[in-house]
Amino acid sequence: MHSDSRRQVLLSGVAAWIGAACSHLPEARAADVPRYELGVASGDPRPDSVVLWTRLTGVDLPPAVTVQWELASDEAFRQIVVRGSENAEAAWAHSVHAEPAGLEPARWYWYRFRALGQQSPVGRTRTAPAADAEARLKTAIASCQRYDHGEWAAWQHMATQDLDLVMFLGDYIYEYGSPPDALRAHMGGHLRTLEQYRQRYAQYKREPALQAAHAAFPWLVIADDHEVENDYGADRSPTLSGPEMLALRSAAFQAWWEHQPLPKALRPQGPDLRMHRRLDWGRLARIHALDDRQYRDPHACVAPRRVGGAATLMNADCAALADPKRSLLGLAQERWLAEGWDPQRRWNLLAQQTLMARYTTHPEGRSWTDGWDGYAASRQRLLGQVAERRLPGVVVLGGDVHANFVADLKLDFDDSKAAVVASEFCGTSISSHGRSQASVDAALPLNPHLHLGRSDQRGYIAFDIDDRQCLATLMTVERPRDAASPVRETARFIVDPARPGPQRG
Ligand code: FE
Ligand code: CA
Repeated sequence: MHSDSRRQVLLSGVAAWIGAACSHLPEARAADVPRYELGVASGDPRPDSVVLWTRLTGVDLPPAVTVQWELASDEAFRQIVVRGSENAEAAWAHSVHAEPAGLEPARWYWYRFRALGQQSPVGRTRTAPAADAEARLKTAIASCQRYDHGEWAAWQHMATQDLDLVMFLGDYIYEYGSPPDALRAHMGGHLRTLEQYRQRYAQYKREPALQAAHAAFPWLVIADDHEVENDYGADRSPTLSGPEMLALRSAAFQAWWEHQPLPKALRPQGPDLRMHRRLDWGRLARIHALDDRQYRDPHACVAPRRVGGAATLMNADCAALADPKRSLLGLAQERWLAEGWDPQRRWNLLAQQTLMARYTTHPEGRSWTDGWDGYAASRQRLLGQVAERRLPGVVVLGGDVHANFVADLKLDFDDSKAAVVASEFCGTSISSHGRSQASVDAALPLNPHLHLGRSDQRGYIAFDIDDRQCLATLMTVERPRDAASPVRETARFIVDPARPGPQRG
């Protein structure tokens, strides 16, 4: 028997004794426990840097652990490009967010970590192209991976694809306890504390399919409501408000940052976390990542006896829906976006949380107040900027609604002759259940700007973007309750950068 495995066997056999008597041997004790159970990840790629992430796991971790990392230009780690170390602290769940600098643009790298005598699995990542370089972007959008609603064949499939970047647009975890008949149950109940949020992330991240997708590509990650609580906005949720809600947000944001490949600069300060940011992809595209939760005005026409939260309302019964002052992004973020549009690049991609296109479910106007329909003036300002500045290559990417929607975005959704100013691809969920397809079929004729609406599909949307076109391919899981399900292409759309509006491809 190899001496290392003999030592491991020995330690596991006498773990109780060691725990009591051998506190002077932290290294030996630690070797017994898997330390990288949550895998590795990378994110926020820049031309010269990328964030490398892991989190140490297991019992008996010291308050601070030095974690070595190395980044190589080959999978076998023969050519180490840069190495360094980070201090993984208990106060931040022993998470590591390393930021190697001085890298070359537009190339693949491999990375791994070492701590407590153990080496992590290897991850692969890629830097963004140089700001002035010609580029092509192969990416995918994903959202809404409710664990107790379905298996994650979508991740297993995505991990095998040829992508430069994955954009995760929200609902990475769900805060609920699971019903007794769930396909696979959440550990613990409704999330309220930092420890509970951490445990939920750990449960999700233990899944090999999700780890494979993280290890294969860099991600750009934003959060939506369920990383905190369903339908929250700013400092209100359906059940909490004020300091109680901000305390919940602090715990939730901390756990989100601890478990995602986010830069140190995004580490939350109490309940505040600057999520909106830009990522440029050569001369080809500017990606604007938005935050539609933290700075929004309160939901319109909140039900009596609730402090916040959303509803479906006839527009005529809720005057606030037409209030020109209300904002989904907050005025400061609206200004940041207005000032950041890039007319030099072919594409401006908005990586944001939810469906932007108008979606009425009644001929006289009925709106779900949680999404852009609840903040129509905010949408109008945004699309007005796009029209005014004549930016033809604006593509809005979203999630949240657990359905694939492909849409023309217009300044007036009621005018069939109104010009199309931007294109939208709202991707369906990885696993979260959708509303009935019958309800979507009934709404489609009321919303003729929607080219496609499929709430009965789970999966993701893949994009191949270059100077000539943006090709979107809807990838759909055949059997959402089967982890080994095939994933198939179910539709293709093409956007011409000079002519807004998706066309069937
Ligand atoms: Fe969701
Ligand atoms: Ca959501």
